[in-house]
Amino acid sequence: MAEPELVDVVVVGLGVGGEEVAGRLAEAGLSVVGVERDLVGGECPYWGCIPSKMMIRAANALAEARRVDGLAGTAQVQPDWAPVAKRIREEATDTWDDTVAAERFIGKGGRLVRGAGRLDGPRRVRVGDQVFEARHGVVLGTGTRPSVPPIDGLADTPYWTNHQAIEAEELPGSLLVLGGGAIGLELAQVFARFGVRVTVVEALDRVLAVEEPEASEVAAAALRADGVQIHTGVRAERVEHDGTRFTLRGGGAEFTADRLLVVTGRKAHLAELGLDTIGLDASQRYLPVDDRLHVTDHVWAVGDLTGEGAFTHIAMYQAGIVIADILARARQAKAGADASGTSSVVGGAMGASSALAASGSSGSAGTVPRADYRALPRVTFTDPEVGAVGLTEQQARDRGINVQVGFTKLGSSTRGWIHQVGDDGFIKLVADADQGVLIGATSVGPAGGEVLSALVVAVHAAVPLSQLRHMIYAYPTFHRAIEDALRDLS
Ligand SMILES: Cc1cc2nc3c(=O)[nH]c(=O)nc-3n(C[C@H](O)[C@H](O)[C@H](O)COP(=O)(O)OP(=O)(O)OC[C@H]3O[C@@H](n4cnc5c(N)ncnc54)[C@H](O)[C@@H]3O)c2cc1C
Repeated sequence: MAEPELVDVVVVGLGVGGEEVAGRLAEAGLSVVGVERDLVGGECPYWGCIPSKMMIRAANALAEARRVDGLAGTAQVQPDWAPVAKRIREEATDTWDDTVAAERFIGKGGRLVRGAGRLDGPRRVRVGDQVFEARHGVVLGTGTRPSVPPIDGLADTPYWTNHQAIEAEELPGSLLVLGGGAIGLELAQVFARFGVRVTVVEALDRVLAVEEPEASEVAAAALRADGVQIHTGVRAERVEHDGTRFTLRGGGAEFTADRLLVVTGRKAHLAELGLDTIGLDASQRYLPVDDRLHVTDHVWAVGDLTGEGAFTHIAMYQAGIVIADILARARQAKAGADASGTSSVVGGAMGASSALAASGSSGSAGTVPRADYRALPRVTFTDPEVGAVGLTEQQARDRGINVQVGFTKLGSSTRGWIHQVGDDGFIKLVADADQGVLIGATSVGPAGGEVLSALVVAVHAAVPLSQLRHMIYAYPTFHRAIEDALRDLS
C-alpha cells in the first residue's frame, strides 16, 4: 500500500465551494491538495449558473424586442441560437476546458490532483494509488448530480440533463421538460423564446412549488404567454424513444417531442465518498453538517452536498466559514507547536507565521462565524424573475408564528404602470407580528432578483417594521413597491 503523503488540507471536489476553500487556504500558505475528477470550477461555470444566464440574457433580449410593438414602433425579431451557443462555448466554458481555472488554483500555491477522491480512514484521502493524510483535515465539496426518477423506460432513452441542454449547438423543434422547478422553468422559457415548442410536465400541483403560490401563478402565466404548455399534477409513468421522438405517458395523457429534458432535482452521491471508513452513514440524501460545516472531527463539507440549498452563493458562504475555521485551527496548532518547540504544522510557499498572519484569521475558533440560513435568498431567473428570501407564508404558519402578510401587485406601483408590458409581478411580505420584523419575502417582477436585496437585508438584520415603514424609497423604482406591501401588512 502507498505510504500516505502528509499535507495540511485535502479538498475533494473543486466546484464552487471546494475551489474557494482550496484556493484561499493555499493563498494563506497552507499546503493544500485539491482533488477534481472532472472540471475545476464544477457545475456553475460549465453547465449551470453562468451559461444558463447567458441563454436567459439572449432570450430576454428577444422578448424585449417583441415588446417594442405598441411601446416604441415595430420590430421584427429573427431568433438565432448560433451566437448563444458560440458565447457559451467560447466565453463561458472555453469549450468545457478548465485550463484557466486549474492554473488559477495552482498559481495560488495549490496542488491539483486529477481523479476521484474518497476518504480512506480518518484524515486520509485516496485518489487512485495515491493516499494523502491531512494534518488539519479534509473538506468535501463534491456537489450533486441530476436525480433521474425511476420512470419505466427512461434510462434506455437518450434524454437530456442540464449538461446536454447547455451544450446544445442546435435547438430541437420540440422539447418536453420533465420538472417544473427553477431550472426547468428557466430553460423552458429560453427554448420557447427561441421558437422551440415546449411542454413542461410537473408531478406536483403547481410549478415552482417551493415558492409562494402567487409566484407559481405568475411564472406559469408568463411561460404560457411565451407559448409553453404546462401540465401540473401529472406523474410520468413511462418514457419511450422510437429513434426520433420521445413519448412520455402519465396521468392518462401522452406527450411527444423531439427531445426530453429531465430536471427533477439533484442528488449527492455519498456512497462514492468512503464515508464508511470514518464510521459515517452513506445512505442519506445529503451530508449533514453543523453550523461550522463540520461533518465530524477534521472533516468539513461545503456546497450542494450539505443539502442546505443548491446555490452558488450558499457554497461560497459556507466556504468562507470553513476557511476561517481551518485557519483558526492551523494558527492554534502552530501556537501550540511553537510553545512546545516542535516544527511548524504549516507548509506551503510562505513561512507559516507570515502566511497565517497575512490571512487575516482571528486565530480563535471562538470567533469563527456560524452558518445562519434565515435570510437565504433564492432567485429563479425567469422573466419575470422570482426572488424570495426566508420563509413563505405557509412555512411561517406551520411553525406556529403569529403571521402578518402584506401584498401588492407591481402593476399598481408607478414604475410598474410606466413599464406597462412585462410588468407582471408583486411583492409579498411575511412578518412575525410578535417580533415586528420580516421573516420572509417574495419579489416577482422584471427586476425581482435585484429588488430582493433590500428584503434580504431586512430579514437578515431583523430590521424593525417601524423602521422599514419610515425609510425613503426612491421614486419611481420597482423597489418602491415594498412600501405599498408594508402598508398592506395586516
Ligand atoms: C442549470 C443550472 C443552473 C443553475 N443556476 C444557478 C444560479 O443561477 N444561481 C445559483 O446560485 N446557483 C445555480 N445553480 C446551482 C449551482 O450550480 C450549484 O449550487 C453549485 O455549482 C454548487 O457548488 P458545489 O461546490 O457544491 O458543487 P459543484 O459545482 O457541483 O462541484 C462539485 C465538484 O466536485 C467534483 N467531484 C464530485 N465527486 C468527486 C470526487 N469523488 N472526487 C473528485 N471530485 C469530485 C465534481 O466533478 C465537481 O467539479 C444552477 C445549477 C444548474 C444545474
